[in-house]
Amino acid sequence: MGTLRLYWLDPYIYRFKARVESIFGRDVVLDGTYFYPQGGGQIYDTGTISDIKVVGVRREGDLILHTLESEPTFTVGSEVECLLDWDRRYRIMRLHSAAHLLYYAMQEEFGGECRPASPGLTDDKKSREDYLFKEKLDLQRLQRVEERVNELIKAGFEIRTWTEGEKRYWKIDPYPAMLCGGTHPKNTSEIGGVKVSRGKKPGAGKERIEITLLQHSL
Ligand SMILES: [Zn+2]
Repeated sequence: MGTLRLYWLDPYIYRFKARVESIFGRDVVLDGTYFYPQGGGQIYDTGTISDIKVVGVRREGDLILHTLESEPTFTVGSEVECLLDWDRRYRIMRLHSAAHLLYYAMQEEFGGECRPASPGLTDDKKSREDYLFKEKLDLQRLQRVEERVNELIKAGFEIRTWTEGEKRYWKIDPYPAMLCGGTHPKNTSEIGGVKVSRGKKPGAGKERIEITLLQHSL
């Protein structure tokens, strides 16, 4: 049986007990987990399982593997205490949700002049989103994008997520639903203020847009 993806049921849980299903060296599979595995543009969670550091989380088929810093001291079948690094995860889920808002704001400002080039990558420091651009990026227009993202945050839209078959969706009221299997806060207002800036150019015809949380929102 696959690992239950509990982080979808409640993305605010950061302390939980789980049963160890299997162990492969330093990789541990639990019956269910609140640790998010890397994917869909969102980095994996860190924390501890039975006081041993979790240094990576990934999906393999329907299993989620937690890589520990050292060989586990527990055995298959035992119950373990798990703790996420919540401050880090909360920053990640806010920045990741800001990347959704960036997508809508980019569409509004640039329309067909740009489109996403990849799923991007959000960690706890910044969100990096690569867009294909037909023209040179106008920084004044990017400034308007930042203002729009902050407007959407302040408007306090409820963020809804749900599963349909194998697919997972994300939606706020003014916009159509998007596919996303990441973790998100309940309301855009939780994101706080963000800065949107141009990052290092990722390649010809592309621009990297970076989002960071403003100091007071850290
Ligand atoms: Zn998402």
